[in-house]
Amino acid sequence: MKLLFLTLLFMTTDTAVKTFTLAPLPYEYTALAPEISEETLRYHHDKHAAAYVAKLNELIAGTPYEKMSLEAIIEKSDGAIFNNAAQAWNHEFYFATLSPHPQHEPEGALRKAIDAQFGSVEKLKEQMTAAAAALFGSGWVWLAEDKSGKLAIFSGQNADNPLRHGMRPLLCIDVWEHAYYIDYRNARADSVKALWKRIDWKTVGERYDRR
Ligand code: MN
Repeated sequence: MKLLFLTLLFMTTDTAVKTFTLAPLPYEYTALAPEISEETLRYHHDKHAAAYVAKLNELIAGTPYEKMSLEAIIEKSDGAIFNNAAQAWNHEFYFATLSPHPQHEPEGALRKAIDAQFGSVEKLKEQMTAAAAALFGSGWVWLAEDKSGKLAIFSGQNADNPLRHGMRPLLCIDVWEHAYYIDYRNARADSVKALWKRIDWKTVGERYDRR
């Protein structure tokens, strides 16, 4: 993953001043339409996500966080630094989860774990869509692996991230209004139902297998 790669590069050059950079959108801005419009992606990636990264760089300058990986900052910081670090991480993970040519169904070990725990992929999607609709205010709904190795649906407000809770993130749904309001207005559940068509289960399965 690009953020991790950048972190490793910085660890080998410890005198370098660290500034995080937002990875470019890994597909064309028009590539996820009609489920997610070009206008949404231009605002979401270039304005919202970029602003979190810029703010994070501003906030960590001259602090001990300057020398940490993004994941370490997420685990150790609070307040504005945590919010902007987690939002930077969450957005890169979110955009990387979506694809113009997604694998529509999980396979392999992930598929077996989902079927065993949730009954079926459809039931998992229903539960996550319901969690996204029910989350009050802004936040993220995640599929994560908990410390015992079980899959968990985790609803986090604002910038919250499973890493903060000792869990491994596998998939996330951004339920901040900026993620859907241009295309779906107030219909958050409809935006999540459409989002499933763009979630790449190949990427999610590779994350699950990376243990
Ligand atoms: Mn967002």
